[in-house]
This record gives sequence, C-alpha cells and structure tokens, in this order.
Amino acid sequence: MGNDGGSIPGRQDLVKVHKKKKKNVSDSFIKSSKSQYCSLSKDPLKKPIVGDKLGQLYNKKNILECLLNKNFPKIFNHITSLKDVKDLNCNISKSGKIECRISLEEFSGINKFYFLWSCGCVISKNSIDELNMKDKCIVCGTPFKNSDLISMNYTNEEKEKIRLEILKEKNERKKRKNKGNNENKDNSNLGKKRIRI
Ligand SMILES: [Zn+2]
Repeated sequence: MGNDGGSIPGRQDLVKVHKKKKKNVSDSFIKSSKSQYCSLSKDPLKKPIVGDKLGQLYNKKNILECLLNKNFPKIFNHITSLKDVKDLNCNISKSGKIECRISLEEFSGINKFYFLWSCGCVISKNSIDELNMKDKCIVCGTPFKNSDLISMNYTNEEKEKIRLEILKEKNERKKRKNKGNNENKDNSNLGKKRIRI
C-alpha cells in the first residue's frame, strides 16, 4: 500500500476570471452606438426608420416583427401599436449615421438632435437655432407644438420617466374603455328587462 495519505488531485480549472471593470465601455461609445443601431435588434439602422417618444431609433422592420409576434422585451412595453412610433424623415450618411435634413450634420449620439412627432423630420439643434424654428417644421412646413419636439438625447432617467407616463396613459385609456363597455352592457341588460316587463 503506498497510496494512502495522498489526496487524489482534483481537476482544477486554473482559469482566473479577471474582473475587468466595465467602465472602459465609455458613455460616448454607448451613445454613439445608439445613434447608428436599432435600439431593439441592434442591427445597423436602415430606412425605413421610426422613433418612439423616448427619442429611441428603430428599424421599422424590427418593430413590425415584434408587433406581429407580440414578443417585445419588457423595456419596450410602451410600444403596443404603430401609433407609438413615428416614421422618420431622415437620411443615413455613408458612415451609417442619421443626418440632419437641413445641414446634413451627422448625429453622433452626443450632439443635440430632435425629431418632430407631427411630421417625423429629423433636425439638429444647430439647424433649429440657426433658422430660428418655432412653430413650423423648417424642412416641410408642418405646424408643431412644443410637445411634438422629441429629443434624441434624453438621459436614461428621462427616458424611464417618459416610458412610465406612456404606460400610465395607456392603462387609463384601457380602464376608460372597459368602463364604457361595462356601461353599455348594463344598458343593454336594462333594455332587455324593460322589454320583458
Ligand atoms: Zn417636417
């Protein structure tokens, strides 16, 4: 016997997991990728492009697929129909970035950009300021309200706030609709009773 006393060496994976801090994925990188890729599929943005009220950009194709299959990830549950997105009037530059319809300035994700919910035109803040845009779109002339001006630079906190407001509004609309249906049912029951009497 000479094997006693020795412990059977177990297989040890000597792979050390280096905990690299994810800080090196810089904020500007995240912002710039949001300006070039569909927020939903992460595919490069390709026309037709739509935007939501949070100023997020999507390939319309990806939105349609999710609406059809009803498989939106939870963070996109503020989109339940095509009414929740706007078709954008924009061009894509050779480098794959959205351009201002007036100046052809590229949206980097950091420079300030807007689109109008009323007409869908994508315009940089520089163009808005230079041409003093107030109540009519400087691209197509469609009148707009302040609430139609959607920033493409909302912070995550601002986006979450808008998302919750949309969800609340949808919920209230649903309740009103249900209430209306119930009242109609009550009325129809009353009607039947009256007939019986
Ligand atoms: Zn317009």
